[in-house]
Amino acid sequence: MSSSDRTCCGVVEEARLRAHHRRTHKPQPWIVLKFAVGLTLALIAYTSYVYVGIFCKDMIVKNESALGSPTTGIVFLVVFCLLLLMVLWSYFAVVTTSPGYAANFVEKTELERPEHLPAHGQQPATISDTRGMSFELMPPAADLSNNATALSNSGNTIPVMPPAVPAATNQDKTLRHHGTSTPGEAHIVDVPTDPESMHVPGPAPLSSHENFYDPSLDASTSPFSRRPSTTPVLAPEYRFCTKDKIIKPPRTHHCRACGTCVLKYDHHCPWVGHCVGAYNHKFFVNFVQWAAILSFWMFATVLGLNIKSRTRSSAPAINPQHIVLLALTALFGLFCFLMFLTHVQLIMLNQTTVESLGFRSMQEREQDNLARMHHWYDCGAKRRTRRRWDKEWGRVGKEGNLWWLGSRRANWESVMGKNVWWWFLPVGRGLEDGVNFPTNPRFDKQGRWRRRREWPSDLR
Ligand SMILES: [Zn+2]
Ligand SMILES: [Zn+2]
Repeated sequence: MSSSDRTCCGVVEEARLRAHHRRTHKPQPWIVLKFAVGLTLALIAYTSYVYVGIFCKDMIVKNESALGSPTTGIVFLVVFCLLLLMVLWSYFAVVTTSPGYAANFVEKTELERPEHLPAHGQQPATISDTRGMSFELMPPAADLSNNATALSNSGNTIPVMPPAVPAATNQDKTLRHHGTSTPGEAHIVDVPTDPESMHVPGPAPLSSHENFYDPSLDASTSPFSRRPSTTPVLAPEYRFCTKDKIIKPPRTHHCRACGTCVLKYDHHCPWVGHCVGAYNHKFFVNFVQWAAILSFWMFATVLGLNIKSRTRSSAPAINPQHIVLLALTALFGLFCFLMFLTHVQLIMLNQTTVESLGFRSMQEREQDNLARMHHWYDCGAKRRTRRRWDKEWGRVGKEGNLWWLGSRRANWESVMGKNVWWWFLPVGRGLEDGVNFPTNPRFDKQGRWRRRREWPSDLR
């Protein structure tokens, strides 16, 4: 122990810090990270055995328990082999392709976290009863753009930490941090369950006399209006990872399971043994797509022939392994299919899973606001109010998404590539490099959503 503090408290404190370091800086053990990969392969092996070794073989060798002709058996076997090849190929691609680790692209910085930012994991003083209002009360954010050097294209230069925002009172500080994503490892990183921590504002609280919306109120004074986050998310001090000591590239998050910052973090997927991020997101989509198709093929053929054979008088007894196969393929197929649909939708909106949670929570809060402004049955009025907000700001998750490229097609190609074959085969790559992302011109230079009247004139 190098510390000169050998008192009881010193030893205890040091042990506590060491334990904390172990807990927060170390990734999960390799075996824990990769366990589900083995499980997935075992699942594929077992279902393949039942399908080929029992279901198809019975038909091909004309067993008594065969459910169809040898020709049917051969056709089913060939289709199965092709689909299995696609599944294994795309699974191999997603498992062996690293999502992209920020530490390989940006150098460490010795700079410590600026004082005006909360320590990681430290919650700001509770003002939970005024959620959303924090943004309205916030003083104008200091212009940091002169001090902040953005990441260079090569990713090799270290941005200069801007000085702490001056003259922020304690209250200001609290308000500034409240409801924003913390710049280090955001809470959204691998436990994306806390909508309060997302940088989206919520509805203002209702005082007892404010029951419904007063139309005489101007949009700027109404407690109910769209209030996007005023956090300068692109400013380097909001992108500092306290664990890796780097300025994270945009859209990068720290994964607690992997113990490192992941480029364009989408989610940590135990089934592939690491994160889904910038470089393997495409392969992940290819995998769930083919896995869903293969599962449904096995499910439909086994179920179909079993039902058909019931109509014959000399029907063989149902093979229990067929029932297990049906249960597994139904479960896995449905899971992969839903995953595929979700990711197609998110990619077309240019949102990662983590980012989409922020938009969802903003939409939920707007629903709350609308419910307070209008009677529950007055859907027309709610629609009109939402249209007015959209007219003032643009739509949540589209014009209001910092990464929206202007069209679904452009968003899709940025992840899945321009070549149509690449959308289905686990080859090629998207147009983005994982470190630099074009930003939506409807936002200011520090990543704050602006009103329509402040957009470039050609976009208004
Ligand atoms: Zn990190
Ligand atoms: Zn991870």
